[in-house]
Amino acid sequence: MSMEKKNPIRRFQSFRWEDTDLLAYKEEGSAPFKAITRQTLFRDPALKCELRYFEVAPGGYSTLERHEHTHAVLILRGKGEVLIGEEVTKIETNDLVSVEPWTWHQFRAGPDSPLGFLCMVNAERDKPSLPSEEDRKALACNPKVAAFLKG
Ligand code: MN
Repeated sequence: MSMEKKNPIRRFQSFRWEDTDLLAYKEEGSAPFKAITRQTLFRDPALKCELRYFEVAPGGYSTLERHEHTHAVLILRGKGEVLIGEEVTKIETNDLVSVEPWTWHQFRAGPDSPLGFLCMVNAERDKPSLPSEEDRKALACNPKVAAFLKG
């Protein structure tokens, strides 16, 4: 569906937007993730960025990854935890999260709460890198990170 032909106002209802497809987070099997959906809210070549809404169901998580491009994230719904580098932090609605280049990051919803967030990215961006076994071992040296990664 082309973004350009849409009504300038798209009403919001239960964290869905009119004329906005509810998509899989990523292609199935492309990377590890659980219980997460994606809606692309804005994709305009003139802006050179995209604004997406991701929603992680209770107990779900985004892919553990890192890349050159940055993320600007606004938590819009619920609560959970985020791993940024080697820091695990509780996050809740209205918190802002910056992910700098080449920083490991993963978002996890709480066991009883969804975690919905807006994420702004460059339209043209590099592909995320996934951790090697060695990277995972290095991250898990920190007990707090190890506990986070186990869920
Ligand atoms: Mn990312």
